[in-house]
Amino acid sequence: MAGFIQEAVAMGIWHQRASLARPDGRAFISGERCPALELQTFEHRSPIDGRSLSQVSRCLANDVDVAVRSARRAFEDGRWSRQSPSARRQVLQRFAEGVLAAREELALLETLDMGKPIQYSLRLDVPAAAQSLAWFGECIDKQYGQIAPTSEHALALIQREPLGVVGAILPWNYPLVVACLKIAPALAMGNSVVLKPSERSSHSALRLAEIGLAAGLPPGVLNVLPGFGFEAGQALALHMDVDALAFTGTLRNGRRVHECAARSNLKRVFAQLGGKSALIVFADCADLHFAARSAATAMFFNQGASCNAPSRVLVHERIATEFIRLLADEVAHHTPGDPLDEDCVAGAIVDEQHFRLLQDYLQLGQAEGARLICGGRTLRHGSGGLYLEPAIFDHARSDMRIVREEIFGPMLTVQRFADEAEAIALANDSAFGLQAGIWTASLDRAHRVARRLRVGTVHVNQYDEDDIGVPFGGRGQSGNGRDNALAALETFSELKTTWIRIAG
Ligand code: NAD
Repeated sequence: MAGFIQEAVAMGIWHQRASLARPDGRAFISGERCPALELQTFEHRSPIDGRSLSQVSRCLANDVDVAVRSARRAFEDGRWSRQSPSARRQVLQRFAEGVLAAREELALLETLDMGKPIQYSLRLDVPAAAQSLAWFGECIDKQYGQIAPTSEHALALIQREPLGVVGAILPWNYPLVVACLKIAPALAMGNSVVLKPSERSSHSALRLAEIGLAAGLPPGVLNVLPGFGFEAGQALALHMDVDALAFTGTLRNGRRVHECAARSNLKRVFAQLGGKSALIVFADCADLHFAARSAATAMFFNQGASCNAPSRVLVHERIATEFIRLLADEVAHHTPGDPLDEDCVAGAIVDEQHFRLLQDYLQLGQAEGARLICGGRTLRHGSGGLYLEPAIFDHARSDMRIVREEIFGPMLTVQRFADEAEAIALANDSAFGLQAGIWTASLDRAHRVARRLRVGTVHVNQYDEDDIGVPFGGRGQSGNGRDNALAALETFSELKTTWIRIAG
């Protein structure tokens, strides 16, 4: 026994918990865990060490149909949709408290599933997920409709009402955070939800549904179907009784779900897609050290798998040499370690397929003529997981694929510019339009350039601000609609106008 305790202490508490974790990968439909109808499963291995974590239900079109019918029943009988906004507020607030109470368990699931450092799962992801639930719960009984300024013989009421059954298809990079960014406003508005997490990170969303039920969400209001995109995801996108689809993922699959919507019932598609955000560093930047540190943190956080990561650095030619040196020095602060160590700052690459893709980009960049100035080595051999040192390509050009395509890993490109006009042209030369950053000491320049960048969000002299109360989303092929803030309530609702004759 003493030996066991010593071993546990030596392993660290998170390693011990990880070794005992047996996540439940079964679907959650009508308030209950259940296997897929055809009893198929797929094995989920942790990217941390390659260990088999669980058998996850492989839901197919018939499971989607059962879940959508359950969600539809729940919506039509009003068990949630017709509860008063203040009753929904109370449930969402309890839901948020439940998430915080399960904080350690959820954080561990997140880290084991997709490889991010435990300290970030625990201190950032779980609290952010709970905050979404609490925020949308808090605001839902403070939303008012409008009365239009019509003639005195009529009254025109303008109100927002729920859409009905909402499908949500999620990516793997921030599984809990993105799940709550969708379900919190959707549920607050009174919709029922059928959620399909990524096949790379199913467990936290499944556990979330159980916590929601315990908090008072009626059965059928939140259903979670794990499975593959080309099966469960596509079936949800094609389903004739899904009213709207919130899709977060790659541009390629965003196109596919739009096609499915067009081929089925023209359901509304709210798409949050990829990014290739430019960070422009002007020669008058007041603090190059700070700018380089901020750029590296924003880029290499979450192993580079953030949609808004500033993966295209554009730097004025006069300061390029110094800035690139500072940036390269920062790479050492983002060296991957063991995600279960509490001081680890960069974790594992999510799976072998993604790791191979990143290796291909490393080779491609060099073949295209960019110069790999640092990083790109495979680390932590023998851990059983896949770990990649952050990489920087200098002398990149806009016609290179490493500049045009979203890589979604710890890799950034550097281009140089001669003047402001060239910087804006380079930044806007992208199919994506999610975010951009500007470093300059000139307020005039900051405003002038920010206005001309075709993106959803511009950061000036920082790149890490984010807040549930501030809309988040992109333009162009980065998608449409907005997460966060009251804008998300509009996304998950429909306007209803009611005309009433006033006699007299
Ligand atoms: P992905 O497109 O591979 O998968 C996303 C989801 O779509 C998964 O659940 C997957 O199973 C499903 N899917 C795949 N094919 C499908 C199909 N044919 N029909 C229906 N569903 C299908 O994306 P990913 O690798 O999981 O996530 C990374 C991407 O998500 C990146 O492009 C990233 O920029 C983007 N992202 C964007 C935001 C944002 O807010 N803009 C946030 C997070 C991630």
